[in-house]
This record gives sequence, C-alpha cells and structure tokens, in this order.
Amino acid sequence: MLSVSISVWAVCVWRWRAEDVLAQTFPLVQDAIARSGIQREAIVGVGVGASGLVDLERGINLLAPNLGWREVPLRDWVAQALDLPVCVDNNVRAMALAESMFGKRDKKANALAFVYARIGVGAGFVVNGQLYHGSVAGAGEIGHTTLMANGGEPCRCGNVGCLETLISEPVIVRQAQALAEQHPEGLLATTLREGEGALIDRVFSAAQQGDTATRIMLEERAHYMGIALANLVNVLNPDLIVLGGLFVQGKRWLVPTAEGTMRTRAFGGLGERVQLEITQFGHEVGVIGAASLALNTFFYQKA
Ligand SMILES: [Zn+2]
Repeated sequence: MLSVSISVWAVCVWRWRAEDVLAQTFPLVQDAIARSGIQREAIVGVGVGASGLVDLERGINLLAPNLGWREVPLRDWVAQALDLPVCVDNNVRAMALAESMFGKRDKKANALAFVYARIGVGAGFVVNGQLYHGSVAGAGEIGHTTLMANGGEPCRCGNVGCLETLISEPVIVRQAQALAEQHPEGLLATTLREGEGALIDRVFSAAQQGDTATRIMLEERAHYMGIALANLVNVLNPDLIVLGGLFVQGKRWLVPTAEGTMRTRAFGGLGERVQLEITQFGHEVGVIGAASLALNTFFYQKA
C-alpha cells in the first residue's frame, strides 16, 4: 500500500501558471514512484493539498489568492497525467488530518485545530476523527478574518486588514527590511544583506543573535496571531492546537507571545485548557498531509 502526495506550496510557485507548475511536478512524481520500487497496482491513490478554496466534489481549486489561481481542475489534470485515483482538499486541512492520523500523543484530541502560517495563514479542523469542511469547504480561512476594524493593509483576497496582512512571511520580511533601513549598519541590516538562506531565516537569525528591535517586531507580529488563536479557541473550543510553517523555524521568537495572548484573551479560561504544540512533522507536514488525504479517502474509508 502506498499513497502519493502532492502539496502545492505558495512559496515556490507564486505567479506561476497552474499548468506550468503541474507540468514540472508530474515527472518528479513519476520518478519518485519508479524509484520507490513499488508496483503501480499497490498505489491506492494520489492526495493533493491545495492552497485556498477547493470544490471537493469536482476536485477543483476554486481560488488560491496567494498563487493567483482560479478554477484549476487539479483532480482531472493529475488523474490524467498519472493515471491514478486522485483526491484534492485544502492543504492546511490535509495537515490537520496528518496530525490527527499520525501524530504521536498519549490522548487523541476530540477537536484538533492545525494552524499554518507561511505566505498566508490557514487552519484545518479535525472533529471527532473527521475533517470539518463547513458548508462549501471554506472552514478554516482564518488568514482572512478581519483584525483591523478600521482599514489596514490591503490583502490579496481583496479585503483589507486581514490577519495575513499582519503576520505572514512576506509581512515579517517587509517589517524587518523597514527596521534595517533605519539602522543600515546594525545587526539586522547586516544579517539581511550578508546572511545565508531565505530572508525569513536571516530575520530569525538576527533575533537569535540578540537584535532587540527584531525580537520586539516578531513579538508584535506574534501578538496578532495570538488574538486570532484566541478567537479560534472561542469558536471551536479545541483540545489541541498544532502550529506549523513559520512557527517551526521561528518557534522561540513567535510562540511564547502567541501562546500568552491566546491564553489570556480567550473567553472564560478556555485558552488555559487548550494544549498548544508545534507540528511533529516539521516542514514535511504538507506532503504527509496530502498522503493522509489519499489514505483517508482511498483506503481507510473504503471499508
Ligand atoms: Zn484577506
């Protein structure tokens, strides 16, 4: 038994056409299948974790603002190219499923929320062992909840003042660049200019090296996340919230403030009782999530 997983990541494909992204993906998937040495007949199916809104029935990625994609028939295209059964769901929902199915914990959570922040912010919910989709599979779009009551920055979704405009990778990098301009010879500016890795890694590195302004900026961003988490706690009352994406690499600089705000701002002590963790799957949670989708759809629920 094997499932194949594809997770569409905004970070590497921004502004690429869906056709071009998939054309580059298919040979890689075929190659991975060939190298696995497993017979094709043993593959139960392919899971695709897609950014944004998904029409589950038709397997269409309806809207992915962070990729600039609309109405992409992912299921049909992937099924045609790989000649295997394909299921498509939202990528963060798939991550929630991965934590629910394969996360190692003493006690199973009745209500699990997975929150992922990178280019955008999204959430996925597993309630009583089942993915929660909402009416038209729109549950979990917390990145587009309005946090600024009066105005705020424009969001790619067309609204203004969304959570994503306050905490996400591009926002943190922009804030850091603005800070660096104020002190061009400072630690942050030097690290952004001469450091290694992606810009976001350099921002965390400056915090690690003791840059106070960077640490304060990250705490401010994390505070907004904490407010969103408190709102989520009030709506869903989860036993467990699992954080992924930026929170994996920026754990030390983002999580304490986000957690503190969540615990104090949630209603009636609900925030005190929720368990908060970082994903056990690190940066692979997306592909493990997509594989979980395929297993859940074509194997476990088939019986
Ligand atoms: Zn938005």
